[in-house]
Amino acid sequence: MVRIVGGGLAGSEAAWQIASRGVPVSLHEMRPVRSTAAHRTDRLAELVCSNSFRGASLENAVGLLKEEMRRLGSLVMRVGDETRVPAGSALAVDRERFAKGVTEALEAEPLITIRREEVRRIPEASNREPVIVATGPLTSPDLAAELTALVGREQLYFFDAISPIVHADSIDRSKVFRASRRGRKERAAEPRVGRTCGAASEEEGDYLNCPLTAAEYERFHAALTTAELAELHDFDRTPFFEGCLPIEVMAHRGVDTLRFGPMKPVGLTDPATGRQPYAVVQLRQDDLAADHFSLVGFQTQLRWPEQRRVLRMIPGLEQAEFVRLGTIHRNTYVNAPSVLAPTWQTRNRPGLFIAGQVSGVEGYVESAASGLVAGLNAAALAAGEEPRVPPRTTALGALAHYVSHADPSHYQPTNIAFGLIPTVADAPRGRQARRRAAAQRALADLAAWCDAEPVAAVGARADART
Ligand SMILES: Cc1cc2nc3c(=O)[nH]c(=O)nc-3n(C[C@H](O)[C@H](O)[C@H](O)COP(=O)(O)OP(=O)(O)OC[C@H]3O[C@@H](n4cnc5c(N)ncnc54)[C@H](O)[C@@H]3O)c2cc1C
Repeated sequence: MVRIVGGGLAGSEAAWQIASRGVPVSLHEMRPVRSTAAHRTDRLAELVCSNSFRGASLENAVGLLKEEMRRLGSLVMRVGDETRVPAGSALAVDRERFAKGVTEALEAEPLITIRREEVRRIPEASNREPVIVATGPLTSPDLAAELTALVGREQLYFFDAISPIVHADSIDRSKVFRASRRGRKERAAEPRVGRTCGAASEEEGDYLNCPLTAAEYERFHAALTTAELAELHDFDRTPFFEGCLPIEVMAHRGVDTLRFGPMKPVGLTDPATGRQPYAVVQLRQDDLAADHFSLVGFQTQLRWPEQRRVLRMIPGLEQAEFVRLGTIHRNTYVNAPSVLAPTWQTRNRPGLFIAGQVSGVEGYVESAASGLVAGLNAAALAAGEEPRVPPRTTALGALAHYVSHADPSHYQPTNIAFGLIPTVADAPRGRQARRRAAAQRALADLAAWCDAEPVAAVGARADART
């Protein structure tokens, strides 16, 4: 038997995959006995916010991930497709019918027992009786404390801090300069996907630097301390982690706090003046193509129109177009590369899996995808087989690789992106053509992977039931 804690996107998909392999499942979901600050119903796989599963096309990494899941008999994808509502090029679902469909399918499966109870302790796990923890970004406090004890205080986070990201071609290059801090080891910029937190690491190199004079800095500081904050939800009212404070909170602490934090100019010389600037905002390349740059350490809870107004006061960003704006929100997740293997097993206890958002992925589809692979592997373990991961050239394999191999000192949860999938050798020119080639290779490699092992039978069996 496999025990699953949490009946969200990940736990529901895992339960389906395990039962599809003929292994009994005990699925523990605390709602409605105890709810979270975001869930509203007692249904399994409730979508807490948007009803979108994002891009549907194969030229979109999340579209590829969804297609791979379909080919492995995903329940989330089957019900998602059945409850689709018009949303242009995205897959959006009727949230009520979606959660109802997933709940009914799991309730009707004889190998799945659903228990409505809060699990306060991580159950004993063994290879014959694995456990999957899939309690999501709003994991209940007792279980979060258990996770802290399991992985260590340093490896469990309670917040997601997103710095704003700007389009590269909207940066005024005549005002910024490219440099690393003097005296620090230079290395090629490592493109990251999405998130930043805290000030720039001393080891990183190759930034675009926006220099500020004393007068510019003072105006910027004054604007920050008077700008309007976004309205907070209950789940976002937890106190901030000191290493990840919003810039406006730092600004309120004193006029120089930012200059000694994310805006410190130490070790940087502006070639235009030959001197160290009074303060600096550093921009770090955020995608492989260098189309996007994130503002390092600039997590913020300002209202979005206020962010645009205040951040455009930074020299070089007067015309900035934002790919995304900053936020900080409640999100419990482990430092995945320190804790997890690509199979979604914990490194120290192979019978214990962590899946879904709490495993350090981001988004409905990615959470369900991690539940899918964790479910397949928990079922394999219970049946005495070896856990396996789809090839790295697939979206499923690339996500598993990122989670288990990213740099732990900078780990941030991620959405799937083509930047995580190795490029195709001799790929055609043009971004869309390159993506199509990567998607074709992924689906071919997934088919070969399925043919090689019993996983193919899982998809087939689940498909036969639909
Ligand atoms: C406010 C908010 C808004 C979001 N908006 C979006 C969005 O628009 N789009 C998007 O893609 N992603 C969004 N996310 C992220 C989203 O939560 C995840 O993408 C997805 O729901 C994670 O799936 P999951 O299965 O890991 O967790 P969940 O879907 O949250 O499922 C976890 C389940 O575990 C249960 N649980 C928790 N603790 C216990 C316990 N101790 N015992 C038993 N059961 C327990 C919970 O009740 C819940 O049902 C949002 C997250 C939050 C918090």
